[in-house]
Amino acid sequence: MGGEVLFVADLHLDPARPEALACAEAFLRGEARAASALYILGDLFEAWIGDDDPAPEFEGLFAALRGLTAAGVPVRVLHGNRDFLLGEGFERRSGARLLPDPWAGEIAGQRVLLTHGDALCTADREYQAFRAQVRDPAYRRDFLARPLAERRRIAAALRAESRRRTAGKPEAIMDVDPQEVRAWMRRHGVRLMIHGHTHRPAVHRFELDGAPAVRAVVGDWYEQGSVLRLGADGEPRLARLPFTAAGGGG
Ligand code: MN
Repeated sequence: MGGEVLFVADLHLDPARPEALACAEAFLRGEARAASALYILGDLFEAWIGDDDPAPEFEGLFAALRGLTAAGVPVRVLHGNRDFLLGEGFERRSGARLLPDPWAGEIAGQRVLLTHGDALCTADREYQAFRAQVRDPAYRRDFLARPLAERRRIAAALRAESRRRTAGKPEAIMDVDPQEVRAWMRRHGVRLMIHGHTHRPAVHRFELDGAPAVRAVVGDWYEQGSVLRLGADGEPRLARLPFTAAGGGG
């Protein structure tokens, strides 16, 4: 009940990085058990090609998620740009519930706005056009109707293309647009926004319409884990989870 609310994002889980997967499982079986809720703000998986993919490599992770939700800790998940095809099958397998992006509501006594963060990067027009295309329901239906092997090939090709495109882009283009942040916070009537996606963990404090406001960015899980803890005092705090310690000697 009185536990902290935890936020993670951009785990980009992939069997090719077993240390991150082990850290995530240890986190779900450990610290998260004492939380009052866990929010996963997108890109839990490096790729998700549909809930009909048995994905046996993630069964340990799903067991840990089921254990956590069965223990009474609510787990809420936003789609990221890599795993926007998570659906009802994922909810059933994990016990977690999907939230719309953006989502605004009360968490730990204050109104909070949650988003993965990619929709805030409006300076990257090429990416926003791509995002609109893959999020289109017709594109989604067409993709999900293809055999798993073909979907896997398409997803790998899209990731390679994304790496090529982002490699040549200035850093500022791939960060959130500060004006967009302010507009979203006004529209949703919040003083605290939490997101991931940019892989630039920080707690930004600024003034919005004459009052203090906070934008907290959760980090990625490439070199170590990253968690944002929100306690009863309303202060978001970032922490790192070392892979070796959390991996449990794996
Ligand atoms: Mn992302």
